[in-house]
Parts: sequence; structure tokens; C-alpha cells
Amino acid sequence: MRYKGRTEEDLFSFLASKKREDTCHEYILSSMCTLPHPVAVRAHTMFMETNLGDPGLFQGTSSLEHLLIRTLGELFHHPDACGYATSGGTESNIQALRIAKMTSKKTRPNVVLPESAHFSFKKACEILCMEMRCIPLDEHYRMDVQAAAEATDDQTCCLVGIAGTTEYGMVDPLTELSLLAMERDIHLHVDAAFGGMVIPFLERPLPFDFSLPGVRSIAVDPHKMGLSTIPSGCLLVRDPELVCSLSVDTPYLTVKQEFTLSGTRPGAPVVGALAVLEYLGREGMEALVRGCMKNTLRLIDGMEAYGIARVVTPDVNVATFSPAKVPPPWRISMTRRGHLRIVCMPHVHADIIEKFLKDIGETNA
Ligand SMILES: *Cc1c(COP(=O)(O)O)cnc(C)c1O
Repeated sequence: MRYKGRTEEDLFSFLASKKREDTCHEYILSSMCTLPHPVAVRAHTMFMETNLGDPGLFQGTSSLEHLLIRTLGELFHHPDACGYATSGGTESNIQALRIAKMTSKKTRPNVVLPESAHFSFKKACEILCMEMRCIPLDEHYRMDVQAAAEATDDQTCCLVGIAGTTEYGMVDPLTELSLLAMERDIHLHVDAAFGGMVIPFLERPLPFDFSLPGVRSIAVDPHKMGLSTIPSGCLLVRDPELVCSLSVDTPYLTVKQEFTLSGTRPGAPVVGALAVLEYLGREGMEALVRGCMKNTLRLIDGMEAYGIARVVTPDVNVATFSPAKVPPPWRISMTRRGHLRIVCMPHVHADIIEKFLKDIGETNA
């Protein structure tokens, strides 16, 4: 590092030049993150120095984290759900599998999950030394429940269903998975990292949450459709014993035990997440989701008018298409099966979609 510091002006002009190298959100059509809501930014700034890793020192912030968990618990039909704010879906999924492993006490634990599962499960299984059993999808890109039933055995400690798959925006048949989990007494974890902030606000929500008796844990990311600042995820569990299974003693903190994966944890994005839900309310979230779904359907219609077919009709605001040439500067990702994938996040306005459709239409004419 430099011996003599830079002037603030020089430093920030350097930082600004680097920030200009980032892609402008106008052209980001495949991210599950979006521009944070102004109230999330304001709340984040206000709580910048808070550390939830030592809740006794930040009791007010800590109570806001509890309120966030309570709000999400109510939204997911179980106001008494326990949980905590994580750094995102990856951490929530790691912790959910860790709970399933700790509470089931299998000697050779395996996890049964759909092929569409997020790559965070691969990390989780590696860290936790669990076998990963990938189940094929049906023709609608949803987990094949029959195949899942056949893959479970006496060493299965967790069954995973996805509510809003990262690549195709599908919701797995969670009612059936819940029945299977109950029948075999297996922990059912729902990865609703994306869909958790979408499905409850749809006109016809699909069952995915604690209203299904087999569901023991849910991952949800406010830093995606919850419009919070990054990093903001949450893990919710049905019973307090489930998180207690992760408790370790913490000798030098204001609390004696903690069950989180991170030690020091930022309060700022947690308060940001709560601020958005409080500010928008159910009504505001419904309007937000309605807009994103409308844009998704418009995009699908527009693409099909150019002969670029949809892969599936998604359950949430993720649209996928048969391969086509995408002109710069648009940034579009591809799925593992080679389909174009567009996530109609709130920053992807209707006029951006029209501009994109015009460009892709001309390129593929
Ligand atoms: C985004 C996503 C994740 C990973 O979340 P991070 O916040 O990136 O760690 C996990 N599962 C699903 C379904 C996701 O969409």
C-alpha cells in the first residue's frame, strides 16, 4: 500500500472512474439483483455501523431483525417462525442443510434435490460432506416427484424444493414434496431465495411456504425482489429447536450462544429489507410484482412475434427462450441448457423491454 495517503478528491475521482466501468442497470437483463429502493438506501446509511453479531450492543437493530423475521413469517403463514438474516441464498442454503444434517443424525447423509437447484447446494454439500442426489425435471422444468421418492432412502436427511428456480422461474410441486417429506419424516427445505418475495404477491400464489406442513425451513433473499441493499438474505425455520441445533458457545460476546454462520453481521441491509416492506406494505409489493409479471408476459409475446420461442411459461418473472443473437450492449445470460434467460426485475422497465425487443428483432430478422 502507499505510504502517504491520497487526497479525498483524488481518491474519489479514482473510485468514480472505476464505477463507470460497471455495466449500467439499463442493460442488465439477467440479474436477480436490482437497484435498491430509496428507503432501503436511507435505512442502510442510517445503520451502517451496526453489528448484529453482538446483539446485546445493538438491541434496537436486533429487534428490527426480529421484526423482519416476524414479518416474513407472517407472509409465509407461520408468524412464529424463527430465523435470522443471512448474507443471501447461499448462506441460507448451507445453514438449512447443516440443520437437516445435525437433526437427522445419519452416518452417510444425502440430500435429494432437483437438477434446477442453485449451485450453492453444491458448495453446501461439499462443505458438509453430504451426497447430492440430483432429480430430473419434468417437461415443465419442475422436479419429478416420483423420481424424488425413488431417490430417497434411510440416509436422506434433506429434501429440497425450489420456489422460483434461478434459471427458468419455476415452482416445484411443493404440495407433493411436503407429503413425501411427512411420510418419510425428512426435513423439507424450500429454496425461495428468488420466489419468496414474488409468490406471496401474485394474483394466484402457488403453495410453497409453511402452509405446507412438511416444510421445515425456507430461504428468501430480500436483496433480490425485496429491493433491499446487498447483502440481504433470510433463513426461516418452523421450530426454534431447528436453529438451536446449530448453536455454539460464544465466550466473549454479549450473548452466550449464536447459531449464525457469520460472526460479525451487518445490520444495515437487514434494516434496509425491513424498511422496504414497511414502506411499500402488501399493496405496494403486489403492485411491484404485478408490474414485473406484466413485463415478463409482454417480453414473451414480443419475442415469440419474432419467432424466438419461450421455453416454458414461468411461474415468476424469469423468461427463457430458444437461442438467438443478442446485440451489444445488452447483457443476457444463458442457462445450462443453452437458453436465453431474462429476469424482469423492477429496474427492467416496460420501455427498456420495448427497446430490447426492437434491437433483438432487427438483429435476428
Ligand atoms: C439467487 C439464488 C440463490 C443464491 O443466492 P445468493 O444471494 O446469490 O447467495 C440460491 N437459490 C436460488 C433459487 C436463487 O435464485
